[in-house]
Amino acid sequence: MYCYYRITTNFIILCIRYSRQDYQVIFNKNKQSMEGTKMYRQIVILTGAGISAESGIKTFRDQDGLWEAHKIQDVATPEGYARDPELVEGFYNTRWSQLHSGDVEANAGHDALARLEREFDGDFLLVTQNIDDLHERAGSRRLLHMHGELSKGRCPRSGQTFLLKDPFGPEHTCTCCIPAQRLRPDVVWFGEIPIGLDRIQDALDTCDLFIAIGTSGTVYPAAGFVDIANHHGAQTVEVNLVEADRHSQFQFHLQGKASEILPKMVERILSGAIINNDSQ
Ligand SMILES: [Zn+2]
Repeated sequence: MYCYYRITTNFIILCIRYSRQDYQVIFNKNKQSMEGTKMYRQIVILTGAGISAESGIKTFRDQDGLWEAHKIQDVATPEGYARDPELVEGFYNTRWSQLHSGDVEANAGHDALARLEREFDGDFLLVTQNIDDLHERAGSRRLLHMHGELSKGRCPRSGQTFLLKDPFGPEHTCTCCIPAQRLRPDVVWFGEIPIGLDRIQDALDTCDLFIAIGTSGTVYPAAGFVDIANHHGAQTVEVNLVEADRHSQFQFHLQGKASEILPKMVERILSGAIINNDSQ
């Protein structure tokens, strides 16, 4: 949903190093072992704006670089927030209200991933770039919001987060500091480091299946996750409406709606089958 250009030095180095690996050799070796066992032990999923768009959440910036008629630097940077906190809070309150309007629901793609988490007999981590709570509504729990959560406010001093039961305002303050601090949106803005990168890195280092769903492949560090998974011999699968920018890095490509592809894909994984281009 958001673009983040500032990345930890570690992550840049890892992404460059892994993107240069001859992963085809690793892939062939891995494919043989996969065909032998026909099951996965550790799965990492990455979801992006595409899966939320199918639930009616408008998450994309338009071609003018504006976001719902706002400049990105006004509503999605720490500097913009320091300049005009009411404007930024109002912007996220509009998103919050849309999410709680009753018109937005988790779709079959979210449901399928929640089922996979429930029934898969192995390690599982769902990483999302989305700030909505549709994965939670579908029942996902082993979930990491790397770009924050619309439904929470964050103490700017301690970093502790607090669930918001109603739209943002100056009355929302933390309970961790004296004096209490005004909460800011728990959203990772331009120039800020995404949440949970160490945990994501650990999961990617040891996973044997990595699936990216509805992501543009242009936003780092998320766009580099496929390189890390390839480097460690995982099978890598892309599910997208259109080919993403880093399309060629994935071993398998399933083109179409996540809400249509994922229920069948999850069924295959749970039945012990491997995923390939015919899994649609
Ligand atoms: Zn505090």
